[in-house]
Amino acid sequence: MNLSYWEIKQWLDNVDFTIVGSGIVGLNCALSLRKKYPKSKILILEKGILPQGASTKNAGFACFGSISELLHDLKTHSEEVVFNLVKNRWEGLLRLREILGDKALDYKPYGGYEVFLEEDSALYEECKEEREYLNQFLKPLFKKEVFSITENKFGFKRVNQNYILNNFEGQLDTGKMMEALLKKCIVENIRILNATNVLSFEEMSSGVLIKTTHFEMESRKLFIATNGFTSTLFNADVKPARAQVLITKPIKNLHIKGTFHLDKGYYYFRNIDNRILFGGGRNLDKEGETTTSFGETEHIQKTLKALLSSVILPNTPFEIEHKWSGIMGVSDIKKPIVDVVSNHVFCGVRLGGMGVAIGSLIGQELASLAD
Ligand SMILES: Cc1cc2nc3c(=O)[nH]c(=O)nc-3n(C[C@H](O)[C@H](O)[C@H](O)COP(=O)(O)OP(=O)(O)OC[C@H]3O[C@@H](n4cnc5c(N)ncnc54)[C@H](O)[C@@H]3O)c2cc1C
Repeated sequence: MNLSYWEIKQWLDNVDFTIVGSGIVGLNCALSLRKKYPKSKILILEKGILPQGASTKNAGFACFGSISELLHDLKTHSEEVVFNLVKNRWEGLLRLREILGDKALDYKPYGGYEVFLEEDSALYEECKEEREYLNQFLKPLFKKEVFSITENKFGFKRVNQNYILNNFEGQLDTGKMMEALLKKCIVENIRILNATNVLSFEEMSSGVLIKTTHFEMESRKLFIATNGFTSTLFNADVKPARAQVLITKPIKNLHIKGTFHLDKGYYYFRNIDNRILFGGGRNLDKEGETTTSFGETEHIQKTLKALLSSVILPNTPFEIEHKWSGIMGVSDIKKPIVDVVSNHVFCGVRLGGMGVAIGSLIGQELASLAD
């Protein structure tokens, strides 16, 4: 790239901290670095014209785990581990709301519901039986009852006539959240270069040499916040996981309000702007969805549409306006990786399906590795 003296001096020379990825983790990492190092030069390199992974593609659930998910986790992890998972998610959400404010997030405390398909009545019974235990288990954190039983008030079909409500779950507007974070970075004099793909990095004695599609540059420290794309930069136990979503056109007198987990969490839906946003179905083709390529498949989209008309909106005509996908970073281990990669390189990746909840904390933790 033919860069001028000014471009090099202003944007690429003497950079203290470079962050790869402008998702929720990268932006929060940059903001935490700014707080600690007010005079530093901070640069974010982002391959997309917008953030292009999961942070601008997600469903905007402000959640910390449905009842069946937490019960499942308790079968494979100790109580202490599961309690800390929930605590981190809850505290992460509080932190996000504190940094940006509920108005900027369009945060709505509408509650979250786990809805059970008729064929999952055994799972419903198990959740019902364990509800009291879980409420006691979570009491030190929430002080009040988290899970209660409520009737099928939204008229879903082919489902158990009771749902389990989580009063502490909320929803936010994903686009507004990311725009507010990006604006905050600009105000804090954090530079972001979009459409700049980082191809590789090399340790040097006093910093890191970074090679991108357009230029090479040096930085004192490098923070990798690339989530599902991490394996293109270095070896890490992070697999890409594509998640497909659709949204309806506005529906008159839409009575559904809240965030919903269906079929053991394989599907999720919510109201937004008088529409239903509906996603999931990765379990239908786990191998095919282990990809960094964006796109939709006929099989999953057909299944989403069928569930929408048979279960969620059985008596309401609807049209689908838009479909998209996002790429998550996952592994069998639920915990994110926040670690030192080499002398001057650090990473905060593998956020799974909970990045809205934990992204701000992981960004902060990643930044703290610079100390
Ligand atoms: C469809 C969907 C629904 C979801 N729903 C929810 C939900 O309701 N609630 C919830 O808590 N979580 C949800 N998630 C998960 C959540 O969105 C993620 O955990 C979170 O956004 C991860 O943030 P991140 O910053 O780690 O990664 P990302 O947002 O993926 O950011 C990584 C960034 O790095 C950039 N990048 C990657 N490689 C390079 C490179 N080599 N050079 C330059 N840039 C690079 C990417 O373009 C991307 O912008 C959902 C995810 C998806 C896909």
